[in-house]
This record gives sequence, C-alpha cells and structure tokens, in this order.
Amino acid sequence: MTAQLNARGDVAVVVPAAGAGLRLGPGGPKALRLLDGEPLLVHTVRRLAAAPSVRMIVIAAPPADVEAVHSLLSPVAPVTVVAGGAERQESVAAALAVVPDEVAIVLVHDAARCLTPPSVVERVAAAVRAGADAVIPVLPVVDTIKEVAADDTVLGTVDRSVLRAVQTPQGFRASVLRAAHAAAADAHTDDAGAVEKLGIPVHCVPGSDLALKITRPIDLALATHLLTLPDPDA
Ligand code: C5P
Repeated sequence: MTAQLNARGDVAVVVPAAGAGLRLGPGGPKALRLLDGEPLLVHTVRRLAAAPSVRMIVIAAPPADVEAVHSLLSPVAPVTVVAGGAERQESVAAALAVVPDEVAIVLVHDAARCLTPPSVVERVAAAVRAGADAVIPVLPVVDTIKEVAADDTVLGTVDRSVLRAVQTPQGFRASVLRAAHAAAADAHTDDAGAVEKLGIPVHCVPGSDLALKITRPIDLALATHLLTLPDPDA
C-alpha cells in the first residue's frame, strides 16, 4: 500500500542514491541492489515515509534510472526523483534544488542506510525544530583507533572517548544547508562537514546500530539478519 506523507509536516528529506556501489562488488547501482528481495531504496523510503514529520522525499537517482526509480517507489510513497551527479555532493545539490523554500527543515539521508528507524528521523528533526542549525546522529567508536604512517608504523593512539561515528539522516535549517552547499568549494563526505566550514555549530544526537551504511558485502549479510529482528520502533 502507498504510504501517505504528512502534508502538515515541516521536513523534506533529500536522499542521495546515485552512487555506483563499487565496494559492494559487481552489480547495478547500490541503491537498487536487493535486500530480502527488494531494492535498498525501497527499504529506505518505506522507513522515511513512516516518520510523521516528513512531508516530502526527493531522491537523486542514477541519471539513467530516473524513470525506473520513480516507477519503483511510487507504490511505496509519493516521491520526487531527480538525476544525481558524479559526486555525492552534486547529487545532494540537485535534490536540494527542488525543495520548496517554505520547507523549514531539510534532512539529508544516504539511500545506503536503508534500515534507519523512523525514530532516528524524528530525533534529528526534533533537534533542528528545537533550535539547532545542524544535527547529526552519532555512535561511540568501539575499536581502538591508531594513527599510522605510510610505512605502516604506528604514530600514536587516538583518544576514542572524544570520537564519534557519524550516520545519516543529518538535519539542517534549510537556509543553513543551502548556504553551506553554495560555499562548499572542496569535496566533503557529509553535509555537516560543509556547515562546520562556515563556523556554524553542529549538534550530536544518538544514532542507531540499525542505521549502518551498506557498503561491503558483509553489510548486506548483516542487514539481512537485522531484518529478522523485531521492529525497534514497535
Ligand atoms: O559511496 P557512499 O556509500 O559513501 O555513498 C553514500 C550515498 O551517496 C549513497 O546512498 C550513494 O548512492 C550516494 N551517492 C550519490 N551520488 C554519487 C555518489 C554517491 O547519490 N555520485
């Protein structure tokens, strides 16, 4: 059944989904690879549409797959699909360009974090609504982290208590995200990085183990198992 989005919601979610997914091994674009018989993007959009604050979802798809992605997602939820770019930040910019000015809060969410629970979407949106310009979901770092030289000699051990692993969705006051993208000259791997460069504080909220990014084949195996566990938001 097609989910209805909340017309009174104050959040647009921009979903970069145009990556090739080369680290996942041979196959089509990563967002269209199958998890439990459905493309990753279907899992992603189903969870976004279940978040009550979300009023609009914009997907940046591989340029050759714009029509196919629209047909694929239309039975899941109402979506707008645009052609993505060669780099992730170009894909985000293309999707951001079609978000209407009256939408106050924009979240940017990797299609590859396809099991992110709706509660994380709501937590990030709530922190922006409460006044933060930029919000990221994070987890503590569990491994010991070493700085290593080019010749594989250890240079030192980093204090992991001050480190966080960063997930998506990342949430922004819409005007802040637009300004950060307009100013970003260098490539950045996440949108909060561009906001940091403007000197604007970025606030952390708890992420979720379920918001893992499907990158390597082992991530798909893990996600397949995670789907068998009870719904964390139920
Ligand atoms: O490659 P990586 O896993 O870091 O990509 C993160 C997200 O950015 C994925 O959802 C991917 O589809 C998206 N992406 C994109 N356009 C690109 C490269 C990546 O939308 N040119």
